[in-house]
Amino acid sequence: MIPAPPHDSGACVLRVLVRCKWARMLCLAVVFSCPGAFATNTDPDPVWPLCGRIAENPPPGWVATDGCPAARFGDAGYTDEPLSATFGPRPLASENNRFDFHRGVDIATPIGTPFFAIADGTVMIAGEHSSYSDPVVSVRHFRPGESGCSPSGCYHSQYLHVSSWVVNASDQVVKGQLLGYTGASDSGFQHLHFEIRDAPGFDPLSAWSRDAIHPLSVLPYAAPNDTSIVFNAVDFSNPAAGRVDLSLTSNRYDLAHRNY
Ligand SMILES: [Zn+2]
Repeated sequence: MIPAPPHDSGACVLRVLVRCKWARMLCLAVVFSCPGAFATNTDPDPVWPLCGRIAENPPPGWVATDGCPAARFGDAGYTDEPLSATFGPRPLASENNRFDFHRGVDIATPIGTPFFAIADGTVMIAGEHSSYSDPVVSVRHFRPGESGCSPSGCYHSQYLHVSSWVVNASDQVVKGQLLGYTGASDSGFQHLHFEIRDAPGFDPLSAWSRDAIHPLSVLPYAAPNDTSIVFNAVDFSNPAAGRVDLSLTSNRYDLAHRNY
């Protein structure tokens, strides 16, 4: 059994095992780098971007412009699960299963679903941007207790494939505030792609894709302690082409719905 940590280290373990298939040395390097990769310094009680899928079962009289109720802030009982794709490497069936690296999580939801600021912040991008194929909302957040991006750097929440937005660049937003409505990717898949970009202190104004971290290490998430991995065969007789066969059983949404 994998113990349930406060943040998501289980997906990291899985990623290590997958990489072991190709390069044993890379596997070892990743094993020891994972704990640091999930060390975050972010709002202690954020809200999920869809406010726990509030639009699917809204409270009486609630409308999206009311924002996400404060009672849902930091409550792991309200999530946007299930996720349709999680953070990490994924095979692209349309490209002969070439792996790319998914820098966020996908939340399948009908076009027009309201989404909300996960924490207080400043809108950096709202709408079309040259770096993205379709409209995006990006919000910059200060570290808890800080009033700027120095010395610790800022982190950013990114909401992709949006169909419309109700904020503008430079707007100050508060946690739970309505930002806009979801859309679909180029393929027609209706969903919200959500990212966290965790800029380091030495580069406080950046929000590079290289800074993307697992969103479940930031959002309120109580990982069920029900994950098990059984090693069926481990063969490193050829170090250049090691192979691990394993069976994974889990209903964790950061691990489930994957096909490695
Ligand atoms: Zn995505």
